[in-house]
Amino acid sequence: MAGTSETSSAISDDRFRSLVEDLPAVTYIADFVGTFTLRYVSPQLTKLFGYSPDAWMADEAAWVDAVHPDDRERILHEAEACIAAALPFDFEYRLITADGRERWIWEKTAVQRDHEGRPLAVNGVMIDVTDLHHAQEALLDEAEGRAREREHYETALRRQADEHRHHALHDDLTGLPNRRSLYERLAAEMSAAQPGYEFSLLLVDLDRFKEVNDVLGHQSGDDLLRQVAARFAREVRGEDLLARLGGDEFAVLVGGWRGAEAGLEIARRLSDALCQEFILSGVPVHVEASIGIARYPFDGADATTLLRCADSAMYAAKDLSTELELFDGDRDHHSPTRLKRLGELRQALDRGELVLHYQPKLRLESGTIPGVEALVRWQHPEHGLLPPGEFVPLAEQTGLIKPLTSFVLRAALQQVNAWQTAGHDLSIAVNISERSLLDPDFPDEVTCILLDAGVPPHHLELEITEGTIMADPVRAAAVLRRLDDLGVVLSLDDFGTGYSSLSRLRELPISEIKIDRSFAARIETDERDIAIMRSTIELGHNLGCSVVAEGLETAEALQRVTSLGCDTGQGFHIARPLEADAISAWLADRQG
Ligand code: C2E
Ligand code: MG
Ligand code: MG
Repeated sequence: MAGTSETSSAISDDRFRSLVEDLPAVTYIADFVGTFTLRYVSPQLTKLFGYSPDAWMADEAAWVDAVHPDDRERILHEAEACIAAALPFDFEYRLITADGRERWIWEKTAVQRDHEGRPLAVNGVMIDVTDLHHAQEALLDEAEGRAREREHYETALRRQADEHRHHALHDDLTGLPNRRSLYERLAAEMSAAQPGYEFSLLLVDLDRFKEVNDVLGHQSGDDLLRQVAARFAREVRGEDLLARLGGDEFAVLVGGWRGAEAGLEIARRLSDALCQEFILSGVPVHVEASIGIARYPFDGADATTLLRCADSAMYAAKDLSTELELFDGDRDHHSPTRLKRLGELRQALDRGELVLHYQPKLRLESGTIPGVEALVRWQHPEHGLLPPGEFVPLAEQTGLIKPLTSFVLRAALQQVNAWQTAGHDLSIAVNISERSLLDPDFPDEVTCILLDAGVPPHHLELEITEGTIMADPVRAAAVLRRLDDLGVVLSLDDFGTGYSSLSRLRELPISEIKIDRSFAARIETDERDIAIMRSTIELGHNLGCSVVAEGLETAEALQRVTSLGCDTGQGFHIARPLEADAISAWLADRQG
């Protein structure tokens, strides 16, 4: 390569040379006519990369050797293409310096041409862009990082959205689809239904669930619901939808053609699935269910109507104790009746349609009548005299139980006052519902009513059931203690029907226990019931309580409980619940 003399003449101007050779870049000139032969390489090649310009000019392969092996093939390929087409270079590649460092190079050329445009030579520049490149890489990394982060958040958001959707459509406790799911599925079934397509909607309500919750605690209640859900899940088919609507209410959409017939079959299977007892906190518990069945499209063509029909049928099953009932449009629609009755009950309180009957209690040893129990009835304008079972539960489910209890307390205490004035020294027992017992204002209300009626507190007995206490033992105990402080007598009604033991009730200020009438009904024949009655009486006495036997219907029953040491008896054999006047007459009769 005879370039040195030519290049010195090309760079003859000192100022020009110093400009080129002071730049922080390598410049070069090369022949560019079908070949690439370096004619000049600026001395910065040594300063920047440690190579000698002369060596590069002497050997074409010197530059190629300095290119990073990973970039070499690409750069040679591009260079050959540019040379062949007489186009300028514009490359970026890594160069290995003479001392082995890796530098990023931006190499760019300009093609010099003759007046006809034929290429003569190229002027090239090699700039060290390592820092720029690193900065660029860092930027790219950052951008990539951001993209990854965004993807991560997007995935998380998508997962969250999926979870929300699952959550919105499922019940946390049992994992079953919830009410919303059921509505969605009902809407889907109805909109896709072809003529002749039928399905059933089953509404399942557990009987005695509240009792389990109250007595064994919410944990056991939850446990029961999960166990029931698992048993039901085994009985439904793939095309059915089992949902929990809330509380102890489940629903099954029994789908498919002939779904209406299959509904009955599935309902029976659900019922059977409950036959085997559940073990809750080690206690075997027997649970039954009431199932109402409504059929699409016969009973209802929209979700709300169908559900209302299933609900109505379920209440009918409860009322008739039949386990399962098909919706019957001819039968009094339960829900509308309930609503109507609720409205009527509200008015009944104002119109004075609620009346009290009184059932005497007999002291077994002395044969005296220490008091009576007030039992509410509804003198219904159309249906006649309704027993409390027909309307007290309705009042308990709504806010009406409070005014009802106030009414009974007032009326009963006024009556006792009247009897006392007439010379009958009677105490009065009033049945108290859960809501009243959990109401912290209740003791104050009782005080007011006692003062208004002018009756001393120890003449009032309040009858409470175990379930009522166990619904919220702490709050109940607080109210019971205040009532006890007032001097009111507290009595445990229907004992033996719940799950609690006497020892559990030991801390409560209860002074009377009323053994449920179901025991009295059996003691005439069943030796085991006699034993239970005997030990219950003993236990009651050991706890310092007086014991009452309810439901004495025969002379034998009365004689038996007397011989077992029971203190007091109550029942049709002694006297049925009677109106106040009839009680006065009955008392006068006994005295006479
Ligand atoms: P309870 O407090 O256990 O009342 C005893 C029930 O047994 C009464 O039914 C009574 O008529 C009935 N009975 C009494 N002796 C016999 C007998 O020898 N044989 C049979 N088979 N039954 C007998 P009733 O009046 O229908 O009351 C049912 C329940 O309704 C009561 O059970 C009580 O829990 C509730 N209740 C009654 N009045 C009220 C009230 O004013 N408020 C509240 N919250 N509940 C009430
Ligand atoms: Mg009672
Ligand atoms: Mg009772």
